[in-house]
Formats: sequence, C-alpha cells, structure tokens
Amino acid sequence: MGHMLEHTEIDILMRWHRMRGKDVLWLPGTDHASIATQLIVEQEIGRQALPELEPGPSARATWRREGQRRRIKMGREKFLELCWKWKEQNGGTIRRQMERLGASCDWTRDRFTMDPAYSLAVQEVFVRLYREGLIYRGKYIVNWCPRCGTAVSDLEVIHEERPGHLWYIRYPFENGSGSISVATTRPETMLGDTAVAVNPADERYRSAVGRKLVLPLLKRVIPVIADDFVDPQFGTGAVKVTPAHDPNDYDMSLRHNLPRLEVIDTSAMMTEEAGPYRGMDRFEAREKVIQDLREQGLLEKTEDYPLSVGTCQRCKTVLEPLLSTQWFMKMQELAEPAIRVVEEGRIRITPENYRKIYLDWVRNIHDWCISRQLWWGHRIPVWYCDACGEVMVGHEAPPACPHCQGEKLRPELDVLDTWFSSALWPFATLGWPGDTPDLRRFYPNDLMIMGFDILFFWGARMIMMGMKFMNDVPFRELFIHGLVRDAEKQKMSKTKGNVIDPLEITEEYGTDAVRFALAISAAPGTDIAFSVDNVQSYRAFANKIWNAARFIFMNMERAPQGTLPNGVPQASAQALEDRWILSRFHRTAREVNEALDAYRFDEAAHRVYTFFWGDFCDWYIELSKLRLNAEEPEVVQAALRVLTTVFDGALRMLSPFMPFITEELWHALYGDKPPLKSIALAAFPEPDDERIDERLKSEMSVLQDLIVSVRQIRHDLKVEPKVSAPIRVFADDGVRRLIEENREAVERLANVSGITFVESELSKVASARHTARFDVVVEYEKKVDTAAERVRLEKDLAKMESEQANARRQLANEQFLAKAPEKVVEGLRKRAAELEVLLDKAKAGLGALK
Ligand SMILES: [Zn+2]
Ligand SMILES: [Zn+2]
Repeated sequence: MGHMLEHTEIDILMRWHRMRGKDVLWLPGTDHASIATQLIVEQEIGRQALPELEPGPSARATWRREGQRRRIKMGREKFLELCWKWKEQNGGTIRRQMERLGASCDWTRDRFTMDPAYSLAVQEVFVRLYREGLIYRGKYIVNWCPRCGTAVSDLEVIHEERPGHLWYIRYPFENGSGSISVATTRPETMLGDTAVAVNPADERYRSAVGRKLVLPLLKRVIPVIADDFVDPQFGTGAVKVTPAHDPNDYDMSLRHNLPRLEVIDTSAMMTEEAGPYRGMDRFEAREKVIQDLREQGLLEKTEDYPLSVGTCQRCKTVLEPLLSTQWFMKMQELAEPAIRVVEEGRIRITPENYRKIYLDWVRNIHDWCISRQLWWGHRIPVWYCDACGEVMVGHEAPPACPHCQGEKLRPELDVLDTWFSSALWPFATLGWPGDTPDLRRFYPNDLMIMGFDILFFWGARMIMMGMKFMNDVPFRELFIHGLVRDAEKQKMSKTKGNVIDPLEITEEYGTDAVRFALAISAAPGTDIAFSVDNVQSYRAFANKIWNAARFIFMNMERAPQGTLPNGVPQASAQALEDRWILSRFHRTAREVNEALDAYRFDEAAHRVYTFFWGDFCDWYIELSKLRLNAEEPEVVQAALRVLTTVFDGALRMLSPFMPFITEELWHALYGDKPPLKSIALAAFPEPDDERIDERLKSEMSVLQDLIVSVRQIRHDLKVEPKVSAPIRVFADDGVRRLIEENREAVERLANVSGITFVESELSKVASARHTARFDVVVEYEKKVDTAAERVRLEKDLAKMESEQANARRQLANEQFLAKAPEKVVEGLRKRAAELEVLLDKAKAGLGALK
C-alpha cells in the first residue's frame, strides 16, 4: 500500500503537469537491491533443495543456510545467472502492478541499475572518486552481519532495545595487590582486551594508571591507560578496551598504540586468539566466560541492563562490530554542497520539518562503508598485484601491473552497496557520462517523491552525487509522503495480519476508487488511516460519475445536433444555475490547482469530490432537468451546452485522480471522436477569475436552503411524496425577487404547488422553518402533531443556544481573537447576530404551539 500511495501521488502530479502543457518525463525503473535479492535467491535455492519443510520463520532460516551453502558450491557465475532470472520475473511483476495502477510513466526509458550503460556510469564515478582521494580502502571497525557474511553501513543497522545484563569483572593487578573492576554488556569480548582505561581526571584511579593487570581467564598482561573518552559515571569508571570489536576502543588503540586482537570471526565464532574458547559461537562463549569467571571468583556482580542491540536490516541477526578491510567513501567534502543547496532553498523539502532532520544528518555525516561481501551487484572495479602490492583502478582489467609488469592480477571480488549506484539515478538514467539530449533536457529533475525511510539512504546521497558530478541539484523539490496504516492507525504488518494487498483491493473495488481513497487521505506530514470502508465510498463516487454520464448521454441522444461541449453562451444569456455552476467550476479549478501546487492531495481530491457530487450532481443536474424537458429546442440546446461543457471540464479535473473512468467517459462524451487521443493530453481546467462570482454562491444558497427547508417540513408533516403542497414565504425584497425568478425550480425540486409571499414574519406558525434570509411554511391540511413539533422545536432551540453560548465564549476569549484569522472571527460575529434573530423566532414558534 505504501508503494501504491507513492505511485498514486506521483501519477496525480505527472498527469496534472502534463495536462497543464508541461513536457513531463516520469522515468521508471528499479535498483538491483543487492543484499535483499541475494538473500531471497539463496532462500529459494534452499527451498528447492528442502521442499518438505513446513513454511514459516524456522524453515526460512534453514532454507537460507542451505541456500548459502549451495551458492558457494555452485560458484559466482552460476549464482548470478539465477539472480538475473529472478530479476526478470520480479521486474515484470513490478511493471504489471504499476500498469494496473495507471502509472503514466515512459516505459521506453525504463532503467535498471545493472544495465550495461548504468554500470558504466557506476564504474566512472568510482574511478573518479578514487582518483580524487574520496574513496579509500582500509581496515576499520564495521557493522558485520555474520549471517549475510557482509559488512553493512551504519544506516542498515536496526537498533533494538532488549533486556540485558551488566557484568562486573575483577581484573587483578599483576603484583597481586588488589584489582580493578570493569563493567561490560558483552563479556565474551574480554578475551580480546588489550588494556583497561580510566578517565585521567578520575581521582579513584590516579595511582593505577601505568600499572599492569592480569586479564582473567587468558592470563595476558595488559596496561591501565588514561583517556578522556572514558565516562567516569559509567559502571565503575574503569572500562575494558577491545580494539578489534568496538569502534570507540579501536580509536583508543590508535591513540595509545595498543594491539588489536580479533577474537570473533566473520561467522561469529571464537578465533584462535580466544584460547580455550576457540570454535565456540559468540553467545555460547558468553555463557562459558561468565561461568568460568564465577567459578574463579572474578565475577563481582550482575545487574539487569537494557541494551541497544544492532541488528541486520535484512535478516535481523545481531550484528558484530568487527575489524575488517573495506572500501569507504569520504563524506565530509561531498556533504558540504548538499547542506548548502538545502539551506539556500535550491532544493525545497516538503513537509518543512524534514528539512531540519535532513540537515542534522548531513551535518553529522560519517564516512560510508561502500563495499559488500556479496555477489549480486556492481563488482568494485579494482585489481591487485600481489607480487608488488600495486592497486589498479579502472573500467577494465589492466593487461599487466604498471609497477612490476607482473601479469598475475587479482580482481577485487566485493561489490558496491546498492545505494552507491542508486545515488546516481537522476543523471545515470539520462545517459551520463555521455552528453545526451535527455540529460540536457531533464537534468535537474523537478521532483522527487519518497518515504522518510530512505531520505538518508537515497535522498541525501543523490543530492551529494548530483552536486559532485553534475555541479547542480538532482531535483528542485523533494516531497516526503506519509505511511499507510490500517484504520486504527496501526502499522500494517504480516504478524498483525492487517496487511492490505493493493492488487486485491483494486481488483475488488476498482483502481480509481483505491487511488481516490489514498489521495483524499494524504495530508502532508501525516500518516494515512486506510480502511476498506473508505474505498467503498469512493467506488460509490465512481458510480455517481458513471450515472451522471448516462443521464447526460441520454439527453444528448434526444437533443438536436450541436450539443457537444463547444463553449458556453454569454453570461448574460444564462440562467442563475448556469452562471452559478460555472462560477463553482472555476473556483474549484483554482482550489485544486493551488492544493496540488502545495502537495495537498487531500484538499485537491476533497474539492473536486464536493464539486462533482454536491454542486454538479445534487443541484445542477437536478435544476437543469426543467430546461432539458422544455418544448423549445433552443432552450434544451442551451442547457445541454452548459451541462456538457461543465461535465467535460469536471472529467478533466478528475482525470489525474481517476484516470480510468474519466478516459472511458470522455471518449463516450465525444461519441468516440474525441478532439485528442486521450483525456491525459487534454488541458487541465485553468480558473477564469472573471467567472468566479461569490454573489452567485450566496444567491444559489438561498434557493438551496429554501428547497431543503421545504423538504424537511414535508418530511416532518409526513406529506406523501406524490402530493405537492403550496408554501408561504416571508422574505425581504431581494430574496423574494430571487425566489420569484426561480419559482419553477423551487416548485419542481421541492414538490411545491404554489408560492405565496406574506408581509409579516411566520414565527407564530408551528412547523415554520426560519433562516436568516426567509421564513417558510408548507400549507398542508393534515393535523399537525403538536407534541412531535414541540420536541423538534425544543431540540432546535437547545442546539442554537449551545451554539450561541459557544460563539459568545470564543468572542470573549482574547487569546482566540488574537490568534484566529480575521475571516473566522468575522464569520463568528455574523453567526452570533443571526442566532439572536433565529432564537427569537424559534421561541415565538414554541409559544404558538402552547
Ligand atoms: Zn544479515
Ligand atoms: Zn606489481
């Protein structure tokens, strides 16, 4: 559903811009998802080898282990063939899904990060950055996944809070005079300790610095050192130093020239250095170390301690910080322009709060571990000459070592982090490093839409690479969309069983209904509470559109020639409802355009929905029936002309949200001879401000209120639907004239058989309806049910009184007055004055009943 939301939002904007005459390119494509793909292909190999296992988490773990074993046995080439096969299938599925959702992308430009041309761009970037010294190779502490067998970057570490322990271990002095206690959460790493460190300002340990300790269990002699990094508040104020298995300890080892002993290997097994614990799994070794320390009386105490455990984003295995030789990218220099362009507003991030989050991250960036010990991906374009130690970087294998002329060269087997290649997307997809027409035309891109989860993985890195290699921003706007949650705002997850499959739900309710339900809930900066009920209402909306179309088509068939939407007559020649619907149409067009400009998908969808269902279907079509049934052909024609013109415009306005139904109906409207091949190429309605007239809205609302009031009174008096009844109206001259001019409409829509205007208020009459602009009663012989009428009036009265009290309270509230927009305050004042009049009338009515 997250992808469906993202693609719906992108598609709405693409269609909208395209219909506004812009040269729009939506370039689709996929990345090769190195670690995820390798994991899934391995699992599939394992599943084929062990098909008898009952599917579930434990079977998956077994399949992955078996698949990994078989991968290594079959070799790189054969395994990569399987990955390509999987990619072909999966890529096809993604494309079919996007087509089903109506994504209007340019499939002729479909790109994949491992296409030959794209791979060339990846190599080019690596070579250039290496030659500039921005890529280097070195042995550092990295986050290692023992299950996946690869290093991962800091961003791929998922930190989980778990219950754990803090163990206090006693390290005796070499000369036998006492000991120092250290606290640790990972006791097995003590086997790799090469020092104990204290803060130089810590009085407790002043005399200990420089002395020697005996490492328990292994009996190695290690020094006590002083380092500012040590926090005297943590544990005992003395900490063990394990340079090969902790990044901070590693830094300390550089400062103090300490040896770095690796006691845990890449499969999370204890090494030779671990002495008697060699060959044990790290967690098994932890148990044994604790047991041995306890037996030797060296375990001082144990405390419960919540741990932040780093786990693998892909397989959830607990990561191990390991000393490992990897490739890194220097980030600080690359980050500078990426900070500047966002600070200067050359890239606008929406919603605004993500701007700060972005800047905080980029300002505190660390070097990026870009090598992965995987097979599926871009091989790092490096060769080694083992004879002389020369490192060669380039697009192709050099024929011989330039230093010693040796011909035996060893290629680097590691691949690049997938995000390394994805970072080049905005220009590599357009033909870079070539100077292509596409690159010149479409770089910088205008817009990038993504979820917050990949803002750093992808968004930030695209900005850095764009600035570095194109010397310009990759895109001008970066919009972060929300998450799709279930109706109770719970995250959708397989274990909760509340996952909704977008294809299933589109199959059931129609793509347009799902797209519309997503769009109308997509307020920037908030997550979406998605429910099937919602989708059902928008399927009903699609039906409403369809039925409106059928009514219009039926009338077009009956009418003479020339009823296509070919422009509307002069305003002076139009009925009130015509001028009103055109005013509403242009106002809606203005609101939709403004909303989409600000990524207010919710607002835009809401506006077009209320216009179509409320203004157009409920009122305009009903009002137009009078004229459509007229004797005179020119009256019918004039009515049809406005009706079809507005309908055509409404379809175009709806089209970005509901592309399927609008395309179908637009063709039908033009009798399969539309002016253009597709509604997607037609113009999006631009507001004509001259057509927008708020007076029309207020006039129309008088008629609407009158019709609704009469319908309610008839309902209360239980007037049979087929009986029409006369009404009496009290109103001032202006309102009276308006009603007189539209007498027929009122009579027809409210089932009224005659309108009489009276000179005095109707407040003394039971069952009268009062509004600020008129009073109305329905003349109906049947006896009024005074009891029921009293209940109704009392209810009305109570409602109005509470509204009045509310309004008074707000108007007396200084804080509210200072903060609320002037329009709101003014509206509230007006309403309070109205209520005063209405309350009087209602009270008089109630008195008359008694
Ligand atoms: Zn893993
Ligand atoms: Zn050499």
